[in-house]
Amino acid sequence: MGNNITNDKNYSQKERLDKMLAMSNGLTAVLIEVLSLSASYLAKTDAEIDFAIWVACHDQAIMGRGMVGFDLSELPWSTENFEAEKRFLLRVVDSAKAKQYWNLLDYEPREEMVLCSLEKFKDLIEDFSKEFISTNNFWSKTLPKPAKHKKCSLHNIYLHEEGCVICNNM
Ligand SMILES: [Zn+2]
Repeated sequence: MGNNITNDKNYSQKERLDKMLAMSNGLTAVLIEVLSLSASYLAKTDAEIDFAIWVACHDQAIMGRGMVGFDLSELPWSTENFEAEKRFLLRVVDSAKAKQYWNLLDYEPREEMVLCSLEKFKDLIEDFSKEFISTNNFWSKTLPKPAKHKKCSLHNIYLHEEGCVICNNM
C-alpha cells in the first residue's frame, strides 16, 4: 500500500500512469513533512497559510497509512488568485528541493528518492491549470480547516486540528 498524487483531469489514461507520483507510505510522510516545512516558512497570506495547513493535513498518523493520496484538483485553490497560488506552490517545492528546512527533521531523509518525488510533484503542478479546480470541499471531515492559525513550537509549522504533522509522526 502507498499513496498516489495525481493530476487526473489533465491526462489521458495512458499518460496518467506515467505522470502519477506513486510513493510508499514512508516516502509520502517525508514528502509531506518537507513540503509542510517550506510551505509554513514561506506562507505570508491567509491563502498561503491555508495551503500549508492543507498539506500538513495529509498526516498518516491521523488519517491512516496509505490514506493520504490526493489529486491536484483537491488543493484549496481559488479561481481569482489561481496563478499566484500556483507560483507559491512551485516556490514551496523549490524550497523543499533545496533542502531549506530539512535540518528541522530528526532524521536524515533518503535524499535521492525525496528529490525525485519533488521533481515529479513539480511537473504535476506545472501541468495543472485553472479549469481543473474541484468545486468540492477541499478539507476532510477528519481534519477540517482550523479556525485559528497556530504553529508548532518545535518545528514552526502550522498545526492542523490534531497537532503537528512532524511531531505526530516522530
Ligand atoms: Zn512539531
